[in-house]
Amino acid sequence: MRTHCPYCALQCGMAISVSGPEITITPRTDVPANAAGALCQKGWTAAELLTNGARLTSPLLHGRPVAWDVALDHVAGRLSAIRREHGPDGVAVFGGGGLTNEKAYLLGKFARVALGTSQIDYNGRFCMSSAAAASIRAFGMDRGMPFPVTDLAGADVVLLAGANPAETMPPFVRHLAGARLVVVDPRRTATARLAWLHLRPAPGTDLALALGLLHLAVAEDLVDVAYVEERTSGFDAVRTSLAAWWPERVERITGVPVPRMREAVRALAYAKNAYVLTGRGAEQHAQGTDTVTAFVNLALALGLPGRLGSGYGCLTGQGNGQGGREHGQKADQLPGYRRIDDPAARAHVAAVWGVEPDDLPGPGRSAFELLDALGTPAGPKAMLLFGSNPVVSAPDSARVAERIRSLDLLVVCDVVMSETAALADVVFPVTQWAEETGTMTNLEGRVLLRRRAVEPPPGVRSDLEVIAALARRLGHDFADEPGEVFDELRRASAGGPADYSGITYDRITGARVTGDRTRGGVSGREAGAGVFWPCPSPDHPGTPRPFLDAFATPDGRARFVPVEHRGPAEEIDDDYPVYLTTGRVLAHYQSGAQTRRIAPLAEAVPEPYVELHPDLAGRLDIGAGDLVRVVSRRGEGRGVARISDAIRSDTVFMPFHWEGTNRITNPALDPTSRMPEFKVCAVRVERVA
Ligand code: SF4
Repeated sequence: MRTHCPYCALQCGMAISVSGPEITITPRTDVPANAAGALCQKGWTAAELLTNGARLTSPLLHGRPVAWDVALDHVAGRLSAIRREHGPDGVAVFGGGGLTNEKAYLLGKFARVALGTSQIDYNGRFCMSSAAAASIRAFGMDRGMPFPVTDLAGADVVLLAGANPAETMPPFVRHLAGARLVVVDPRRTATARLAWLHLRPAPGTDLALALGLLHLAVAEDLVDVAYVEERTSGFDAVRTSLAAWWPERVERITGVPVPRMREAVRALAYAKNAYVLTGRGAEQHAQGTDTVTAFVNLALALGLPGRLGSGYGCLTGQGNGQGGREHGQKADQLPGYRRIDDPAARAHVAAVWGVEPDDLPGPGRSAFELLDALGTPAGPKAMLLFGSNPVVSAPDSARVAERIRSLDLLVVCDVVMSETAALADVVFPVTQWAEETGTMTNLEGRVLLRRRAVEPPPGVRSDLEVIAALARRLGHDFADEPGEVFDELRRASAGGPADYSGITYDRITGARVTGDRTRGGVSGREAGAGVFWPCPSPDHPGTPRPFLDAFATPDGRARFVPVEHRGPAEEIDDDYPVYLTTGRVLAHYQSGAQTRRIAPLAEAVPEPYVELHPDLAGRLDIGAGDLVRVVSRRGEGRGVARISDAIRSDTVFMPFHWEGTNRITNPALDPTSRMPEFKVCAVRVERVA
């Protein structure tokens, strides 16, 4: 059976074959993301997710196995009582960027129609929301990577700001093989080791660096004036704002030498084809939207976006990070990437749902604000949680865990007993990945289909079935069959920015989008399976490159937006003299709920670690292998010391796949995207005696 990987946003193609108890995974070569037949070690070992002994197979009520009807009746009864006592906003819903489009859609409908609550958001707020906000601001639409991944093969230069695909999605790196890489990262990551040029700004100063690069582009007359005049607006205001960002000042702030900045800008400007790509390193800041905007401004000044063979893109992280932010599990959004405060959008979606527009609640709180309000006098008293593990993944996670513990009711749907599920009153065991059918939209904006390939274990049901069963008990009739839900999603998304109305399951698996590349078509090996949104009618070929002719703004021009560097929300001082930055490692995925239970992955990286520079380690009398405590104003995490000159001497790095790292991180929020500042906070580091 042809399917796609359960993990990251590349959604590599793989085939599953079942022979008795043996489940075998082989890479597919008809999917452009990994056409060379590559998978990373997470993909190769994904079959173990299906046979893992840690699997939940019975609903649990206060830790005891119960029948499905008992658990569902209990939850429905408690939800009704809490809504009666505290009103509809007394119940919160929290989703995830790994949920299929069908689940994200039904979850949003369930919150707004069955519960009537505005209190819904999801963990994608922690991942890509700053890049999404910046793309909407600049281009009028958030299609993270508005071109097929195969286009990158023709690039001469690619600037990667805060992305480490050599660890997070290794097959992606093959698409960069022909390009000179300029990597912006405080660490010498696996990706930085491949770089032609590595720029190492101090944590939290990427925005200043981007301003300095653009200043140099203007000063050296490298701006693509014809492109700027023809395809953009607002450049004059940005050019004026750059006056304060002369290179020597930027060097003082970032630590990046001026000659290195000059090399980077010249390489991008003189390249025939070039891309600027951002990842979480640029985005997970209290100034993340502005940081991405500064890199977009640079790309626009050099004439890259919306040009065949060049562009700007965001490397989405979670498996359905793109689709998960399009169909209504976000506090401010309705299906089709519609805004919930847009009267026309409310009217359209309300008509599909058979309710009055005025009955649609919202917008509600963003993810961290929602978690932080749980159990407070004005906040929700109950939460239903799908596909997320905030006790590990939320910033200031000890505070979040305390808020979750104060709830009157926590209901978790998961495949294993995650750290958050362990706090739940009710746990529903659900199907996963190859045990169910549903669509995922990968980092290219390509809608893919994962069909059920193996029988789920007895005792589990799909998230869709759980949502519909609860809705039924609350007096609402929801479809729970994936194809039916997708057809409803298509109607709800019709006419919206993320228009899926022309996409069907059959088209996804049979599609070969072809045509003139210069007009946005793709051909041959680029096509693969899947359909690119927007796709507004059954005879529409989909839109691999939506910005070739015009951007999605009212006047069709991309918008320059002036931004200013503000620095990290928390600076180092005498008490907390070192920066902490966080990220992923090759063997693990997100909160690690799945990968920490896969033996080869757990063996590869069995425990959290703290990477620190030999100079810092020497000053602190820390040796390799010592147990280290990292303490911030919020809490502490521990890990085993790894001494490496890949990290700056003023910074330590911790992977965030284990409970502990996010007890330290800072929940300072970006004012636009409400993204927390995971990537930098002030800490002190101590050897544990
Ligand atoms: Fe799966 Fe991502 Fe690895 Fe591909 S790169 S095999 S999609 S985790």
